[in-house]
Amino acid sequence: MTIAIAVVGLGKIAHDQHLPAIAASDEFTLVAGASPEGTAEGVPVFKDIDALLASGIAVDAIAMCQPPQVRYVTAAKAIRAGKHVLLEKPPGATLAEVEGLVRFAEEGGTTLFAAWHSRYAPAVEQARAWLAGQQVVSADVIWKEDVRRWHPGQQWIWQPGGLGVFDPGINGLSILTRIMPDFIHLADGEMEIPSNRAAPIAARMSLADTQGAKINAEFDWRQTGPQSWDINVTTTTGTLALSKGGSELVINGVSQPVAAHGEYPALYADFARLIRAGKSDTDRSPLRLVADAFLRSRHVATEPFID
Ligand code: NAP
Repeated sequence: MTIAIAVVGLGKIAHDQHLPAIAASDEFTLVAGASPEGTAEGVPVFKDIDALLASGIAVDAIAMCQPPQVRYVTAAKAIRAGKHVLLEKPPGATLAEVEGLVRFAEEGGTTLFAAWHSRYAPAVEQARAWLAGQQVVSADVIWKEDVRRWHPGQQWIWQPGGLGVFDPGINGLSILTRIMPDFIHLADGEMEIPSNRAAPIAARMSLADTQGAKINAEFDWRQTGPQSWDINVTTTTGTLALSKGGSELVINGVSQPVAAHGEYPALYADFARLIRAGKSDTDRSPLRLVADAFLRSRHVATEPFID
């Protein structure tokens, strides 16, 4: 039996990735959607989760793809209705929201999946395997892209809870927290916030592991031309360069063969595996680092951002 799934929040990522990955999966069958204005081909789309849950359509699982600020209430209703829930990244607008959802899922015995799509980029697990057991000396995370190219017209990214440049930056942190062999924490940070917006357009983080290795992270949404989604790590035995968002890997200067696969098909395969095993995966470590950045950083006002 395939898992009957609905998608809530039929915007860019739902159409670009979730609906195609579900259509290509042997594990899932799309049965409905819910979104204020959005549509999904071939299935009924309701205005909101209440109408979806009241419709009588048999739904086993729901993917939450709306902006993070409006995700908690909807996800809580879905979990309380006994549905397995996939949370797009970030899994909530606050850490406590995610804690609450974890409790509801534990109480109800349903699967909750905080999905970090960048962790499914093809070279991430190879990087993790090479770094396992190693001592890191230093690392750099460089996540710089053009906000006008990737987020045209999206206003929620600039509002409280939208995370600003950490909306893409948390993808780099999701890879970093997956591949680093040691626990890392934020020691210091700085955020540049446009004077007409509530969220940063650029940020720098000084991170450290328990052995004192220094990890610098730089995020910038003003990068035109080539885009940078790179992580470079130096250990006591060599160097690792993970580039293009985790899709290319160079170890000690030698390019590594990488088996190409899509992030979202692999992510949905994991969601199915969790549901079938009766388990959850709710790692909050990338969101915790971003929350700590908002707690710990200097705020620098910068020029207004006009779309
Ligand atoms: P988006 O294009 O703005 O789409 C979000 C959709 O959510 C909107 O189209 C809107 O649907 C719907 N929505 C808004 N309020 C809602 C509510 N109260 N209930 C139900 N649906 C509501 O944003 P996006 O880029 O797809 O991003 C959504 C999430 O995916 C974010 O957490 C983002 O970080 C993550 N993500 C985005 C990308 C990307 O490349 N864009 C990549 C990976 C992950 P209507 O159009 O029906 O009003």
